[in-house]
Amino acid sequence: MSSPKQRPLPQSLGLPFTGADSHAHLDDERLLPDLSGMLERAVSSGVSLIVHMFLQHERYAANRNVILEAAAALPKAPDICFARGLHPEDVLHADEEEWERLVEAVKTDPLIRAVGEIGLDYHYEEGYSPSALQEPWFRRQLRLAKELGKPVVIHSRDAWDKVFAILDEEGMRDWPLLWHCFGGDRTRAKQIMERGWHIAFGGASTFKANAEVREALHEVLPERLMLETDCPYLAPQPWRGKTNEPALTVFTAECLASELGMSTEELWTLTGDNARRFFGMEKAQ
Ligand SMILES: [Zn+2]
Repeated sequence: MSSPKQRPLPQSLGLPFTGADSHAHLDDERLLPDLSGMLERAVSSGVSLIVHMFLQHERYAANRNVILEAAAALPKAPDICFARGLHPEDVLHADEEEWERLVEAVKTDPLIRAVGEIGLDYHYEEGYSPSALQEPWFRRQLRLAKELGKPVVIHSRDAWDKVFAILDEEGMRDWPLLWHCFGGDRTRAKQIMERGWHIAFGGASTFKANAEVREALHEVLPERLMLETDCPYLAPQPWRGKTNEPALTVFTAECLASELGMSTEELWTLTGDNARRFFGMEKAQ
């Protein structure tokens, strides 16, 4: 985090150690070199749980223990758990070996609490991941999640109707499913709620132009709401354009709490509790 002079630091919000970043990519090249510092800033900002997405076997094999050891070496660290999945943008290079490793990891690693992020991404029309390839991998991973009784984290970009259609066809209604980086309106939020699913709001929901996304918040049941960074991408205001990291989740909380007319602290703890419940990371009593 640079230029702290012009922007408030996340610690300055003084939130309790009860919040969660439900979607992070800590193994990104921009974040990995300062893993310890990033985890310390998360703690001092009130982030008590980070859910990290592992999208490729190679990265999982290389970084799983690096992340856990960095946390273990600190006097106080957020709890960390993982999701493991094949991202729609990676399917072109996926083969049976990658699949077998994914299945093995989801079956055997107790810290992998969900299959994700998986879904469809039609943002690049002439992309390197043709839609005809994305769909079968998406369905295969949904079936794996059902077979193993795992929650699912959904990535959907420019593919709303198709993602809903596939999820309905695969019988995902009322399955523990988290719609990551929600960017829709009230109607989309309603469709997600009707199906019994959860929604995570990220930094983009704080951008001035995204009033529609903030309005959709009013359709979300309190117990189904989560916060996320999707770091290193999409830092919330007032850090927009900078490298995102878990500590900055507090600014999304502040913005959304004001939209909902509740205190930031209340929303912080509510969404943190929701993430813990969803990913099976409840604190020991
Ligand atoms: Zn992501």
